Amino acid sequence: MKCDKCSAPAVLFQRYSGLHLCKAHFFADVEKKIKKEVRKEQIEGTLAVAFSGGKDSAVVLTVLHSLFAHRGAEIIAITVDEGIAGYREKTLESAATLVAKLGVRWRVASFEEHFDVTIDRLGQRQCTICGILRRSLLNRLAKMVGASTLATGHNLDDEAQTVLMNYLRGDIDRLLRLHHPVKEGLVRRVKPLKYVPEKEVALYAILKGIPMSLDECRFATGVFRAEVRGLVNEIESNHPGTKYALVKGLDRILGLMQPEPFQLGRCTQCGEPTVTTLCQSCKILKSLRPKGPETD
Ligand code: SF4
Ligand code: ZN
Repeated sequence: MKCDKCSAPAVLFQRYSGLHLCKAHFFADVEKKIKKEVRKEQIEGTLAVAFSGGKDSAVVLTVLHSLFAHRGAEIIAITVDEGIAGYREKTLESAATLVAKLGVRWRVASFEEHFDVTIDRLGQRQCTICGILRRSLLNRLAKMVGASTLATGHNLDDEAQTVLMNYLRGDIDRLLRLHHPVKEGLVRRVKPLKYVPEKEVALYAILKGIPMSLDECRFATGVFRAEVRGLVNEIESNHPGTKYALVKGLDRILGLMQPEPFQLGRCTQCGEPTVTTLCQSCKILKSLRPKGPETD
């Protein structure tokens, strides 16, 4: 099969666009989508990339480095080590290979040093706790390295699943928070792969020879997300373009609503932004501490 834009052999058929693309046109298509997302934000100064070593963040780091390095903007890779033996060491190894290849600065911070916990030591709720602590630590790390923006590796599949999960739960507050304007104390986020399907991220990484880890965390459960993933994939295969429509649809609704940025307070414990007195990570950490003896 030939590329619909030139006569070179196609490496991909995009059902949602109806196009066969050769390697060069596929690369250009992915990079165009990334540039479009990044241009929505005014990126100045230092840009942090949440970098796990997996395919998504490896592609984000590589493409943003090629876009910004020559413009004088500094890219810093930031990685959270959750304390998951047998998994994180391997992803850190492949992360180290990519940062060395690109020559970008890299900062790693662990739950152990910042929160005095590791995911391995928890007996339950690993993913819930891990997600909350990781978001908090990434925000702190981004501020520590002086970044004005934090890029994450969420791809179109992740975003479509999250949008649908929140609709199905009726969690409109969370849905609005997904796309809310900048909040004070939170480093502005950008998701360069928001409109790139997961399979295309993987194909891009493979064809470009980007070092990445394919290891999976043994705690990955997420039953509800797995159900929603199956559902979205099935509808996408019968109705190509559904994932895009889910994500774009929410963007359009929020664009029409133009929600006001909501104000955040400061956590009384750690000073991080929060809507309640204690931030989510301090609440979680408090619940994990052994209760001391009653004193009165
Ligand atoms: Fe953390 Fe769960 Fe992801 Fe493992 S699968 S890294 S525990 S969020
Ligand atoms: Zn706190």
